[in-house]
Amino acid sequence: MTTQTVGLGVDSAYEAVIGLEVHAQLLTRSKMFCSCSAAYTNAPANGNCCPVCLGMPGVLPVMNRQAVEMTVRTALALDCEIPAFTKFDRKNYFYPDLPKGYQISQYDLPMSLRGHLDFTVNEERARCGITRVHLEEDTGTMHHAGDVLQEATSSLVDLNRSGVPLMEIVSEPDLRSADAAREYLVRLRQLLMYIGVNDGNLEQGSLRCDANVSVRKFGVSELGTKVEVKNMNSFRAVHRAIDFEIARQVAVLEQGGALLQETRGWVETRAATVSQRSKEMAHDYRYFPEPDLPPLQLGRELVERIRSELPELPEARAARLAEQYGLSTYDAALLTASREDADAYEELVDAGVSAKVAANWQMGDVAALANQHHRSLVDSGVGVVGLATLLRLLEDGTINGPTAKELLAELYEHGGDAALLVRERGLGQVSDRAALTVIVDEVIAANAQACEDFRGGKAQALGRLVGQVMKAAGGRAEPALVNSLLRERLSA
Ligand SMILES: [Zn+2]
Repeated sequence: MTTQTVGLGVDSAYEAVIGLEVHAQLLTRSKMFCSCSAAYTNAPANGNCCPVCLGMPGVLPVMNRQAVEMTVRTALALDCEIPAFTKFDRKNYFYPDLPKGYQISQYDLPMSLRGHLDFTVNEERARCGITRVHLEEDTGTMHHAGDVLQEATSSLVDLNRSGVPLMEIVSEPDLRSADAAREYLVRLRQLLMYIGVNDGNLEQGSLRCDANVSVRKFGVSELGTKVEVKNMNSFRAVHRAIDFEIARQVAVLEQGGALLQETRGWVETRAATVSQRSKEMAHDYRYFPEPDLPPLQLGRELVERIRSELPELPEARAARLAEQYGLSTYDAALLTASREDADAYEELVDAGVSAKVAANWQMGDVAALANQHHRSLVDSGVGVVGLATLLRLLEDGTINGPTAKELLAELYEHGGDAALLVRERGLGQVSDRAALTVIVDEVIAANAQACEDFRGGKAQALGRLVGQVMKAAGGRAEPALVNSLLRERLSA
């Protein structure tokens, strides 16, 4: 199925105004306010709970220090300000997956404010403001018989996820298209994974994205009526849902209608957003300060220590790699897509593989094998060290390209020692001039037509002859030498 862009054309009288709210589960060991494991999917339903995360009366929450530090780390990576003082609030609402009747969140004094994220969309640089990054707790999960609440005859509650630390990252309404919204999310996800606070899994919901979408006539400064779009669990869904919503809102206004402030859910099978409920106003939640948690003072020493421990961030790393190793902007971005990839690349170069060869193999054969086996280079049989050994054998002329390719595929799946395999199987490249000359002469004698074609000016005929020599030499001949020997003998 092709994705059709139904967003605004360049000549539209309307512009879209989009802000994203992203929820990211933090990769802490324990939950937000108790010592239950945060790895909630590892236990049977309701097997990963205690009185605190079950919301029993009279229990007291205890703040998870690691979650606080991860939130500060994220805020600093997004260039946010960290106020000296922050507090937690109760957000009150009733839902079966929230048995205590309120969620501990942050309201008027969040942990951080006023940051930004820079990215490139359609080859133009863009900046989206970050309103705030705050910390809260996740709720449990519901399983409805038949998947749809309205048609369900029964529903089950699993509270394993209840109390898992959840970070909310709210953007300013600075995004103007579905393309920009998707790119913002791509870059935010990459950043969260780089700094080790989230695993980036949109499908399983450890990273979730809601969009606030409105439209207005160009030149108008007030915001239009805002619709919150939920239930988008892939980058593609985010893009399609926002495009759909923009077009729907413009159509309503063009027909003289009025938009409702509401929450709509993206329904993949209908390729449409569907009204879920009218949007609550903030005061519906009756926020008030959480009485069981003391306000938090974030000392400057702590903040500066966390800042100093931030790794090199993706954009800076891509720029440095491009400069240091003479890579194109495109290649540098690919090689730094994940921190693991970027580390692997720099390890290869540090181990003596040339920058160009390391880049070509990592983006080519290694990427293809990673896809095929659903295993990253680091988790593969060959590993980064094994790949470095293999590529050094290639670069010093011990083996040729085709042999390296075959060995890599084998080692990737099954592991082993490249140098040992080359010795045991006699895979060393044949660069013995005399031995190859004999083979070259045999091939010339047996392929009169190809030789005549080459002499007659058909350059591609040489490729056929090179192929024959490689085959006769068991695939181990040095390609450059075969090439030059053939040219030499054919012009004699
Ligand atoms: Zn618990």
